[in-house]
Amino acid sequence: MTTAFPPKEITCDCGRTQTISMEADWCEKCANRIFYHEKHKNRYKWHTYYIYGIIISVFTFLAYVFMELIAKPFL
Ligand SMILES: [Zn+2]
Repeated sequence: MTTAFPPKEITCDCGRTQTISMEADWCEKCANRIFYHEKHKNRYKWHTYYIYGIIISVFTFLAYVFMELIAKPFL
């Protein structure tokens, strides 16, 4: 992530145009992630979905364990 790219103007979703020379940076206006290459944006998006998927799975599992082991004897 330390590799420097030639400065390039990237337009954020909020409309702000910012010059970045890194693979990814934060928008100075809305603090969203902006990316040098569009493919990095997609990779970041899928990575985010992957993390959400794990979190949802863990919560579902914990809810199941709670229902089976803790709540069931009291029903
Ligand atoms: Zn922005």
